[in-house]
Amino acid sequence: MPLLLSKPFLSFFQLSKPRFFMSHFPNLPPISSPRARLRGVVFDMDGTLTVPVIDFAAMYRAVLGDDEYRRIKAQNPSGIDILHHIEDWDPDKQRKAYDAIADYERRGLDRLQIMPGAAELCGFLDSKKLRRGLITRNVKMAVDLFHERFGITFSPALSREFRPYKPDPAPLLHICSAWEVQPNEVIMIGDSLKDDVACGKRAGAFTCLLDETGRYDSPEYANVEFKPDYKVSSLAEVLSILEAYFELAP
Ligand SMILES: [Mg+2]
Repeated sequence: MPLLLSKPFLSFFQLSKPRFFMSHFPNLPPISSPRARLRGVVFDMDGTLTVPVIDFAAMYRAVLGDDEYRRIKAQNPSGIDILHHIEDWDPDKQRKAYDAIADYERRGLDRLQIMPGAAELCGFLDSKKLRRGLITRNVKMAVDLFHERFGITFSPALSREFRPYKPDPAPLLHICSAWEVQPNEVIMIGDSLKDDVACGKRAGAFTCLLDETGRYDSPEYANVEFKPDYKVSSLAEVLSILEAYFELAP
């Protein structure tokens, strides 16, 4: 009897797994058959391909001031979109804000480190001949420095000079069209729910949230609009997910 029951129970358990665990997002959804074809992988840069070194909270506080920062943070539980927020400011105030942002980004560049598992994952993608792109809200200079310093290149690599930037789906759709692939043949990997997962889901791509510290397990993220298809705590796990869930075919 337990044998007869085990299979349906397992399927039910797997399907319902996210609701029974602390995370609001599925770490490992059921494997569908046939497996989805994957032709390219698009990465976020800061905090995904590189170790997070930019203190975003301090940056937002410097740009907005303490009170405004607290007010906006309370209104935006999944995170503050600082670039969007300063878009309508008057030119002088806006220039100061951009200077403050650039200052935090520059300090981040000095301490730039590649994320553990990034080189291995890119090597794996190369072995499967899968395309590799990059979308960042950071500036082009930071992408150039990444390419130079770590010798791993992404093409296309779109920085915030490309408008509109994430979480708009435009940069991801641009990459898909440059690659001549469909958005549902691509996975977007990033550490930001509000930028990377939102951009990926809006474009119609698969998404994978890198959550090293489990911060997205917090209840404030339970009811967000866009949820990732996969959640991992390291880039090494991404490799396993790609192998288990996708037909990797350039
Ligand atoms: Mg990031």
